[in-house]
Amino acid sequence: MTNSNGPTSTRVFGAPLRYIQGPGVLEEIGGMAALAGRHALLVADQFVMDLVGEPVRRSCRKADVSLQTVLFNGEITNAEIERLGKLAASSPVDVVIAAGGGKGIDVGKAVAHHLDVEVITLPTIASNDAPTSKIFVVYGEDHRLLGAKHMKANPLAVVVDTSLIARAPKKLLLAGIGDAISKKFEVAQCFKAGANNLYGARGMQAAGALADLCFATLLEHSQGALAAVERQQSDASLEALVEATVLLSGLCFENGGLSIAHAMTRGLTAIPETAYELHGLQVAYGLLIQLQLENRPAGFVNELRQFYARTGLPLRLRDLGMKQDATPEQIRTIATQTLTAPYIVNFERSLDADDLAAALEAVESHT
Ligand SMILES: [Zn+2]
Repeated sequence: MTNSNGPTSTRVFGAPLRYIQGPGVLEEIGGMAALAGRHALLVADQFVMDLVGEPVRRSCRKADVSLQTVLFNGEITNAEIERLGKLAASSPVDVVIAAGGGKGIDVGKAVAHHLDVEVITLPTIASNDAPTSKIFVVYGEDHRLLGAKHMKANPLAVVVDTSLIARAPKKLLLAGIGDAISKKFEVAQCFKAGANNLYGARGMQAAGALADLCFATLLEHSQGALAAVERQQSDASLEALVEATVLLSGLCFENGGLSIAHAMTRGLTAIPETAYELHGLQVAYGLLIQLQLENRPAGFVNELRQFYARTGLPLRLRDLGMKQDATPEQIRTIATQTLTAPYIVNFERSLDADDLAAALEAVESHT
């Protein structure tokens, strides 16, 4: 879709057909699969298969849906997508159930895209916003990111069983909070810059309103939700927070667009010291850089930094794995690699490596 981004240019809003959340909603998955047909394919790695395989099978049986399973080997490459597609081709498939974390969800989407059928996502952790979106990421055989691909449409259903999420490690939920906290500010920059959303069109006002709700929910419920995960039991805070990190965060990035906080993940993955930290924690740090570039008032930034400190979100590169203060060369590498991200242009003014390096220095020297 081409778009001139004038005041009357085409606007698009996309979303999953159904989003279901709560303790025990895994039982609903067979009924959701039946919306697409009689034959489901569960794609998951061994760990996730052991966790959800039996309940998914029971639920499908109840809904009179046959279930075939294939085991994902852990890396989303074109060869792996074809291998899983071939394994699945021995019986009919109407819908893929994509279960797991970020990669588990993405590989199920990739197989559904390959087979040209619907997908239902079943996240077992809430560390990112992949479950609601139509995008999946493919890697080369050398583990290098090849790029993002788009399914024809968003998932048929997203089934978020919070009794599973409540039993996942706390750090994964924190990463989900990090991936979501930037959205209000990234969507606002996309609107200012007249940027396209992930549907290649202008975003609706709804994306901005959802981003505001997402941010407010995170501020109110993050600490309560992290405590719920420590007890391994869902409560009202965890339910509200998961809605923000999985549903709202996903709708926001796809319908509003991404900006500097996400562009920063290119820079942070370019140096080995910070490359292996969870995506959401990199994004949370990236937001601090974005706010610095926005010249936000100190009072606002300090309040957000206090929230980061209370919840455990990263305030400096040391919190992302760096052992000592970053060298000028490391700062320069992060800055120049961040500039290679496509979202870097979704900002109120054009930025160069000096702007990014100065923002990094300022955030690093903040006391
Ligand atoms: Zn993200």
